[in-house]
Amino acid sequence: MSKYYNSSRTKNIFDPLAEEPFKLSRSKIDLFIECPRCFYLDRRLGVSRPPSFPFNLNSAVDLLLKKEFDIHRAANEAHPLMKAYGLDLVPLSHEKIDEWRENFKGVQFFYEPANMILTGAVDDIWVDKKGTLYVVDYKSTSKETEVDLNAAWQIGYKRQMEFYQWLLRKNGFDVSDTGYFVYCNGRRDVKAFDAKLEFDVKIIPYKGSDKWVEITIMNARDCLLSDSIPPANKDCDYCNYREAAKEKESLKISKTKKSSSEKIKIQEALI
Ligand code: SF4
Repeated sequence: MSKYYNSSRTKNIFDPLAEEPFKLSRSKIDLFIECPRCFYLDRRLGVSRPPSFPFNLNSAVDLLLKKEFDIHRAANEAHPLMKAYGLDLVPLSHEKIDEWRENFKGVQFFYEPANMILTGAVDDIWVDKKGTLYVVDYKSTSKETEVDLNAAWQIGYKRQMEFYQWLLRKNGFDVSDTGYFVYCNGRRDVKAFDAKLEFDVKIIPYKGSDKWVEITIMNARDCLLSDSIPPANKDCDYCNYREAAKEKESLKISKTKKSSSEKIKIQEALI
């Protein structure tokens, strides 16, 4: 077994008979939306998807942005980028801000109707003079054109922000429907690499709605409570691959068996 992947996990598996709350992260809720079957295999049966390649450059940008905004957080002042966009906000100072930004901790809420603890780690939170919070998410990429939120696949980014807004509201905070993406675009139009990447950084506001969150949590719970595995998504290449591979493997095995039984018959006929 690869040291990066455990194909038969025994921890963090939903037990329909358990009384204690089950912990579920924002990314697993997104997995449920993407494919209930993959979600069920992962959280109910302990077979998760193999990990993707680590995005180390994106993580480095996130880390450096965090350090940069932390300087302004400590000074209780707006970052120059926030000023450039005319935002009368400052990075939030709160005793739990580090915990809320930490993977596997994050903002948490026990949602009683589902008997689940929902979690999600934010990149940042900004605040206005009235104390209203604004969820902030850092994104980085490198493309020729301007970054925006118009691609169909970016629905995941929007859901991510809406889920954090819901979590913070459930923790008793006044949270704006508007959140901000700090979107960094690695420039490709410079003359040379010179051992550094330059970025254009844009703040993109997004007005979210968390109306989908609670019903989705309940649907995810119903999915986990079920004793049958949800159907595969016909458009998913991975399940098509798995099915095709399974079929071909079984063909090969039966052919091998047939030819050995044929061999036995031939040997019997010769005796
Ligand atoms: S259809 Fe795709 S996403 Fe769904 S279970 Fe199969 S591999 Fe996973």
